[in-house]
Amino acid sequence: MTNIDRPYCETLDAQDALASLRTEFHLPTGMIYLDGNSLGAQPKAAFERARHVIQEEWGNDLIKSWNKAGWFDLPSRLGNLLAPLIGAKAEEVVITDSTSINLFKAIAAALHLQAQKSDAETRKVIITERSNFPTDIYMAEGLTKWLDRGYRLHLIDSPDELASAIKHDTALVMLTHVNYRTGALHDMAKITVLAHAQGALCLWDLAHSAGAVEVDLHQANADFAVGCCYKYLNGGPGAPAFIWVPQRHQAQFHHPLTGWWGHAAPFAMQASFTATPDIRRALCGTQPIVSLAMIESGLTIFGKTTMAAVRQKSLALTDLFIQLVEARCARHQLGLVTPRHHAQRGSHVSFTHAHAYAVIQALIARGVVGDYREPGIMRFGFTPLYTSYAEVWDAVEILQEILDQKTYDANIQRHTVT
Ligand SMILES: *Cc1c(COP(=O)(O)O)cnc(C)c1O
Repeated sequence: MTNIDRPYCETLDAQDALASLRTEFHLPTGMIYLDGNSLGAQPKAAFERARHVIQEEWGNDLIKSWNKAGWFDLPSRLGNLLAPLIGAKAEEVVITDSTSINLFKAIAAALHLQAQKSDAETRKVIITERSNFPTDIYMAEGLTKWLDRGYRLHLIDSPDELASAIKHDTALVMLTHVNYRTGALHDMAKITVLAHAQGALCLWDLAHSAGAVEVDLHQANADFAVGCCYKYLNGGPGAPAFIWVPQRHQAQFHHPLTGWWGHAAPFAMQASFTATPDIRRALCGTQPIVSLAMIESGLTIFGKTTMAAVRQKSLALTDLFIQLVEARCARHQLGLVTPRHHAQRGSHVSFTHAHAYAVIQALIARGVVGDYREPGIMRFGFTPLYTSYAEVWDAVEILQEILDQKTYDANIQRHTVT
C-alpha cells in the first residue's frame, strides 16, 4: 500500500509553480481530462482569437488580411514561437499541413539527399519500428512504393535491434521519439549518433514529445523532425503540424510537393518552380488560416514557463499515477506498459487490462477521460499545464471503484474513435 492520501496531493498542488497556468484553459467542470496527449484542451484565449479572425480579419478585412493580419507569414511566425520548445533555431520550423504530409516531405527530402551520394545504389533501407504510429509507416510505404527505386522498409521490434539494424545500406532512420502506445521515450542523441556513424539520416516524429518532454534537436544533431500541434501544444482539433529542417540541410531540402507557397517568389507567378532558399520551401499551398491562427494561443502559454519545469511536473504526475494505481488496484491484474525509468518515459502512462476498452468507457462515463489503444491498452495522458495532482488522486480513486465493483460493461460496443 501507499501512504499517499488526497491532502498530500493537495499540498503538491499548493506548491506547484505551474498550477496557475490551469486558469489559461477552458476545462469542463466535472471532467478529469487525461487525454491531452491526443487532443489538447482549449486555451481560453483561442475563443477570442477565433472570434477576431472570423469577424474582423475574414469578415471585415477580407483579402487585405493576407498582409494586414500577417496571414501569409503565419507558418513561419508560429514556427519561430514553437522553435525553443524543441531546441530548434529561428527560421528552421514552419507550421503547415498535417504530420502525415510533413512525414512525406521529410522522407522524400531525406531519400533525395542520400540519392546524391556515391553509395546511393546500395543505400536503400528505411528503418522504423513496427510499433510506430501507423501513419508514419504508411507514408514511408506509400512513398517508396510510388518511387519504385528499390527502397524498402525494415520494421524492428525492439529499440535494442537498432545498433545492429543500422548499417551501410540504411538511408534513413525514422523514429517517433515517444511511442504513442507505450509512452516509451527514445534516446534521440544516442540513436542519431548510431545513424550518422553509418551514413544514415535521422528523422524524428515529435507528435508525443513537443510540449511534453524536453527536446533539443540541435544538441542531438538530428536531421529532420515533424510533429503535431493538436496534442500537447493545444492547437485545436486537426491543427496544422510542424516540420523542422536545420539550416545545414535547408538548401538541399527537395520534396515533390512543390506548390507555390514554397516558391522563391510566389507572386511573380512564374511558369516554373524555383524553391525559396529558406524553411518556407517546406510549404506547399494555401494554409487553413482559421485553424493555424488558433495555435498561437497554446504556444503563448508555453512562453510563461520552461520545458524543464513542464518535464519535472510531468514526471511527478506520471510517477504519482503509477504508484497509486499499483498500490490501489493491485489485485486487478493491470499491466504497466510504460517504462518506469524517467529517462525512458514520455508524458502518458499505459496499462493493459483484460477489459481495457470497457473500463475506459466506464471511466469516461464517470468523468475521467483517457482513451483505448489496441491491443488492450488503457492510455492516460498527463499535461503539466493543466493537470493537477489532486486530479490524479481522484482519477485513481474512480478507477479503483470501477474495478472493485466491476461497474463496466464487458460486452460494450466499440465507437469509431476509441
Ligand atoms: C498523432 C500522431 C500522428 C498524426 O498524424 P496526422 O497526420 O495528424 O493524422 C502521426 N504520427 C504520430 C507518431 C502520432 O502520434
